[in-house]
This record gives sequence, C-alpha cells and structure tokens, in this order.
Amino acid sequence: MPLFLRGVALPFNKGQAPDADVLAVSATGPVYIPLAKEEADAPTLCVEENSTVAAGQVLCHVDRLPVFSTIAGKFIGTTMVNHPLYGSLLCAVIKPTRSKRVETLPPVEEPDTDTIIEAAAQACIYDELDGIPLADKLRLWRMAENDQAALRSILVADATENDIYGSSAWCILKEQAQEALYGLQMAARALRFSRYHITTMLPRNRRRALKRLIGRENVFTTGDEYPVTVYDDSRDDVFCIGIQACAALSAALQQGQKHTHTILTVAGDGVPASRNVRVPFGMDLEEVLQACGADPEATVILGDAMTGVPCQNTHFPLLPGITTVLVMQSHAVRTPQPCIGCGRCATVCHAGLLPYEIVRRLENMHYERLRYLSTTSCDGCGACSYVCPAGRDVATQVLNANETRGTIFLNWGGVENE
Ligand code: SF4
Ligand code: SF4
Repeated sequence: MPLFLRGVALPFNKGQAPDADVLAVSATGPVYIPLAKEEADAPTLCVEENSTVAAGQVLCHVDRLPVFSTIAGKFIGTTMVNHPLYGSLLCAVIKPTRSKRVETLPPVEEPDTDTIIEAAAQACIYDELDGIPLADKLRLWRMAENDQAALRSILVADATENDIYGSSAWCILKEQAQEALYGLQMAARALRFSRYHITTMLPRNRRRALKRLIGRENVFTTGDEYPVTVYDDSRDDVFCIGIQACAALSAALQQGQKHTHTILTVAGDGVPASRNVRVPFGMDLEEVLQACGADPEATVILGDAMTGVPCQNTHFPLLPGITTVLVMQSHAVRTPQPCIGCGRCATVCHAGLLPYEIVRRLENMHYERLRYLSTTSCDGCGACSYVCPAGRDVATQVLNANETRGTIFLNWGGVENE
C-alpha cells in the first residue's frame, strides 16, 4: 500500500457502478420522515392522520423551515425510530400509495443572493458531504457586499469520491453535470464569490468528456491520494459543498423541485454488483438492500470503507449525509496489537498530527498533554487506522482524545488556551 507524506493511495474497487445507469428504487414499505429528537418536542403537524399526501407536501415546520413527505402516500401517524448515526428520532410514517402526486415550488427567475438561499431552505436541500442543510451553510459563509475576503475565497463542489467503493458523485457528473455546474454557480453567487470549480479525480477519458461538456476552467483535477485535497492553493479560503447539493439547488431554482431523493452507492462483496441507486430520503435501508440483492448474512456498513459505521440492524431510514452503504461478506475484524512505533499514522495524517502520540497520552491518562497535540484538527478521515500495521483503531482513539480533552480536562479545572 503506497504511502504519501500526508495521505494514502487507496485501491479503487468501484466495479461497474460508475458506468451503469442509476437504478431508481421506489419504496414499497413505510418511509420515515424525522420530525424531532424527542416525542415531547413533536412539532404541530399540518396534516391529519390517515390523510393522503403528495411528495413534497409539507407535514409541519421546524424552526420555521418546512418538513415534507418525500413520497406520495398516506400519513399514518408518528413513531420513534432508532437510527445508528442520529440516535432516537420521532418520525412521521408515510405509507406509499399508487399516487404520483408531487408538490413543487415556483421556479426562481434571475435569482439573487437572498432568493437562492431561500430556495435552498424551502426545497430542504441537504449537503450530502455532512448532512447539514445547504441554506445554513450559505447563510454562514455569505460575505458582505464589497468584502475583500470574497476575492480570496473559492467555492468547491467536491465530486472526488476518493473512497474505495463510492461513486454517487461520479454519477451526478455523468448524468447532470451542467445542472450541477449551474447550482454551483448559484451557490457562489449567494456567497458573493466570483470563483468556483468542481473538483474531480475521474479517470482520464471521463475527465476529458466532462471538460468538453462544462468547460475546462470549471473542472479541477486533484491527486489520487486519500484524503483528497480539493484545492491546492493554500493562500485561498476554500469552502466546500457536495455535488448532489449543487444539482439539487439547480433543480430547485429552475424547476421548483424539492430535495426528496438522494443517490447512494450500494457496494461490496455482499451484493451481486455494485450499483448507484436513487431512493427517497426516509426509505428503510433494508428495502434498499433487498432491491440490490444483498446477502442478508453480510455485514452492513453505513458510510464508506474508511469511515463507515457497522450496523447490526438494517431497519432504519436513509437520511442525508449517507452516500455509500457497504455490504461485506469478508469484513475482517482485526485484533489490535500493541503499537510498534512505526510512525505510519503520522506520515499519512493530512492534518499533520501525531496520532500514535495522542493515543499514548490518552491511554496513559495524560489528558493535560492532549491540548498541545492539536486533536481538534482531526476530521476522522481514518487514514491512520487504515495504514496501522498493528491493526489499531487509531482514528477513533484520536477522536476520543478530542472529546476527552474537552470534558475530562476541563472537569479537572484546566483552562483551555487555543
Ligand atoms: S483520522 Fe485524524 S489523526 Fe487519523 S489521519 Fe485522519 S486526521 Fe489524522
Ligand atoms: S501506525 Fe500504528 S503501530 Fe505505527 S506508530 Fe501509528 S499507532 Fe503505532
């Protein structure tokens, strides 16, 4: 496994998924739409139980933003659902019907900075990179008029898919590249940035075709190490959003479409073939797995090969922030061995950390020393765990150290000095 100073080369195992058409999978069982974390915080609903709803029909408002059904069906009530990433959630349960009714918003002509952000909010567009609402990011990053900082800022649509199996972003570039570029341009307009590009690490033939389609000045090709660098000029401030969110923003502005569906890659040796599937948010993962012919005995990992979370139970709704689901028959569970001090984890860490030292301090309860080891710079990319010859889950330990620093150290009466 080749090592880079800052990063690691991953063996791509994307199969035919990037070349095959996206498979549309409809829900036949109930779809679960999150409303609140607790039953006590249930919002006031604007639909009656057992009433029929259209896809995109508003069920309630949370923090003045609409929450809508992602499919046409019958609203049969609410229930608590346990989600492996988000914990317990109060969800509206929508049973699909034959209806194809879809509610849309009015398209936006000549959008300006406010109307773009409002359209992202009303269409409930989530950034697939982290599951955060796109409108929240745009509001947070928006520069004031004539702010000089906007000149050294660049908005990047991350379509790299530098994980081993994932290819949903590549599918967007194959099927909706012009729409995604328009969405990126509009997001940059909302922020008052004049510079933007789509970052890719596509194979050469696909990269050439993309440049011909949307213009080479709009495409930035990054190196093929993991984790990826979406832009290589450290003098600029780089802001990053997902390519699916860009395509969704384009659809919201031009056609008034709400963000009801996502594309995710279902891959691994537990499915007959890796596929990219288009599914409604809130669909039961088990149904998606069955549609892909997944081995019911295989281990299911939510997320990509580097940072994914194994899940015991596959009956939970697919929510924003998930673009890869792995089904692994050969999922190896390694028995961790003591650290041999090889330093590989430090070599590959793109944040420039010393993971082995952080883990050592954590294990020896030297919590006060953690503050000098910049643990907050860790983004949990997993590269250190991947290269560790001792099979240690270094990344999780570094993230634990980060939490520990913020709790135990302060509880001891320490003073943070960042
Ligand atoms: S998980 Fe954290 S410590 Fe490990 S390589 Fe990534 S950024 Fe560095
Ligand atoms: S890669 Fe693993 S064995 Fe090597 S120094 Fe880091 S933690 Fe220790």
